[in-house]
Amino acid sequence: MSFLDYAPAPESRAILNLRPSYGLFVNGEFVDGNGTPFTTISPATEESIAEIATADDHDVDLAVQAARTAYDRVWSKLSGADRGKYLFRIARLVQERARELAVAESLNNGKPIKESRDLDIPLVAAWFFYYAGWADKLDYAGLGAAPRALGVAGQIIPWNFPLLMLAWKIAPALAAGNTVVLKPAETTPLTALLFAEILQQADLPPGVVNIVTGAGATGQALVRHPDVDKIAFTGSTNVGREIARTTAGTGKRLTLELGGKAANIVFDDAPIDQAIEGVVNGIFFNQGHVCCAGSRLLVQENVHDEVIERLKHRLSTLRLGDPLDKNTDIGAVNSREQLDRIKELTAAGEAEGAERWSPACEIPANGFWFAPTIFTGVQSSHRIAREEIFGPVLSVLTFRTPEEAIAKANNTPYGLSAGIWSDKGSRVLAVADRLKAGVVWSNTFNRFDPASPFGGYKESGYGREGGKQGLTAYLAPNPGGVK
Ligand code: NAP
Ligand code: MG
Repeated sequence: MSFLDYAPAPESRAILNLRPSYGLFVNGEFVDGNGTPFTTISPATEESIAEIATADDHDVDLAVQAARTAYDRVWSKLSGADRGKYLFRIARLVQERARELAVAESLNNGKPIKESRDLDIPLVAAWFFYYAGWADKLDYAGLGAAPRALGVAGQIIPWNFPLLMLAWKIAPALAAGNTVVLKPAETTPLTALLFAEILQQADLPPGVVNIVTGAGATGQALVRHPDVDKIAFTGSTNVGREIARTTAGTGKRLTLELGGKAANIVFDDAPIDQAIEGVVNGIFFNQGHVCCAGSRLLVQENVHDEVIERLKHRLSTLRLGDPLDKNTDIGAVNSREQLDRIKELTAAGEAEGAERWSPACEIPANGFWFAPTIFTGVQSSHRIAREEIFGPVLSVLTFRTPEEAIAKANNTPYGLSAGIWSDKGSRVLAVADRLKAGVVWSNTFNRFDPASPFGGYKESGYGREGGKQGLTAYLAPNPGGVK
């Protein structure tokens, strides 16, 4: 250890009380699945954590039946105020078990503990508190008096924010009066199963939330099930497209939260130190496994060299390594499959002529790792400027005028988010107005709040999560509805 190196500061795993194997969570109980169980691992070490059940079509059917029965007999008959009490209880239990959930999330996903501890889990609690408050106020959701729940919601989530995506899906669905069957991602089922324990602790009526683990086929079975009224999906654009085809004409409601290729635009009058922090947070937070990541830096030409120099200096101070170490900035990539995809796209970046740079950093021997990387001299036609890399890789492009920045930012099939860094409020507002992105951050990046709607344009999907908009995605108007 040299001068100014940090000593290891690992968060203890002793708080975890994991079972060697987990079943499906159906009708309030853990049950065996009919599919072949699989092992869930820590991507930082490749060690196994637990055996996880796989739900086949029959298991998914049982889960949907449980959700339907719970909807008909219990959940649809409760008052909003009573549903709210369950949501408040869940939120408080998440807070009580926050440290345990943070450790489990970092272990199974690979993200740094400081992120799961300070961002993921607090936001999970915030989401349940926020929607708990809505449960008895549905008359004010903007759909007229006494809007109706849709019924059974099938929800499919990705691996990048496992418990937070669960909260984004389950909290508004339950507040609006729906029951749920949720499928976590194959590589990150652990916190969803700990959440199932929390539901037992909260005495949530059996069947109101069911969790079916497994791979893509389990998700497909849920999407195809005829008794599901609504599908909410977060994941890749390709799978989203397939789901849109499968549900077309079935009467199922659908929301899709898909990929992104956000532009983070730095003007020459930007507060440069803040902008550097924002650019780093924009793409290196959560190893860049963020759908709204600022993966394209658009920097005004006259400050390009200064920005790149400062960015390289800042990247040299990032610490890559053990996700459970409290000093870690960059954790493990979630899976070998994702690592291979990052390697393939970065190799294409070099082959197409962009210049690649990474700070010197030690890569651990086991597990899946990728050093933070920036590409300069990127052209809009390069694959690394067009395709979602979903890793700690920043593509830098330049512009001279606001017009050019707007044109380049919008030159993507996606439209999820964008960032603008400038000292002038008038410029920020004028540019934001013309960006085709669901969320535009100004002089900040990657900020989330349960009251604020989030979602995309174009190939980034449709529908919004968060806020009143996220609530109405689980409601239908009730013409002539009486309270
Ligand atoms: P993915 O392959 O589309 O998987 C998402 C979820 O769908 C997983 O639970 C997956 O199960 C399941 N699935 C896979 N094939 C399916 C099918 N044919 N039918 C139904 N479900 C299926 O995406 P991913 O690779 O896990 O996640 C990365 C992508 O998600 C990125 O493109 C990212 O931008 C996007 N994303 C978007 C948002 C947003 O809010 N807009 C948030 C996070 C991520 P398995 O895990 O078993 O494959
Ligand atoms: Mg997948």
